[in-house]
Amino acid sequence: MKIICIGRNYADHAKEMSSPIPEEPMFFMKPDTSILRPGTPFFYPDFSSDIHYECEIVLKINRVGKKISTRFAHKYYDEIGLGIDFTARDLQKKCKEKGHPWEIAKSFESSAPISRDFISKSELDLNNLSFSLKQNETTVQQGNTADMIFNFDTLVSYVSQFMTLKKGDLIYTGTPAGVGPIAIGDILYGYIGDREMFKIRIK
Ligand code: ZN
Repeated sequence: MKIICIGRNYADHAKEMSSPIPEEPMFFMKPDTSILRPGTPFFYPDFSSDIHYECEIVLKINRVGKKISTRFAHKYYDEIGLGIDFTARDLQKKCKEKGHPWEIAKSFESSAPISRDFISKSELDLNNLSFSLKQNETTVQQGNTADMIFNFDTLVSYVSQFMTLKKGDLIYTGTPAGVGPIAIGDILYGYIGDREMFKIRIK
């Protein structure tokens, strides 16, 4: 199983990172060991002092496909979950400055929490899906898929031009504005609409 993460897919987040709005999707990957199983705490790693949350809608790929056309991309996923793309922002900044790959900032242990439940897309309006992240008592991110630069079908098609997608692969589809640091003792709550999808303790 592989985890594909889309960067800069919400204009307001690209803006807060002082990054240009991409003309085509950009993605990077995390290993399957990045998955943080539901109900498991996140242990703050000692190699960073600036871990940020990035709350993201996650697509679960349901069959093998490559070079998928946008027209047929919807047939390759039928469930939607919610996750976090934890990012060591301090390490990422150094990598960016040196022009190095991002892996140490993005692909570390437990950097990809995922919801226990996935919701059938037939129950959802994928083009107008609101989601949010609460840090303790404060809602820190509020997104809507209507604001994505590249929609789900475009992302699935794009990634599949470069690599075969397999059943069980996950695509984290990018984060809206409002990213920020976590601290030991925090609890993060993720929602799709009003439905609580995960609760993560930071230890
Ligand atoms: Zn992200």
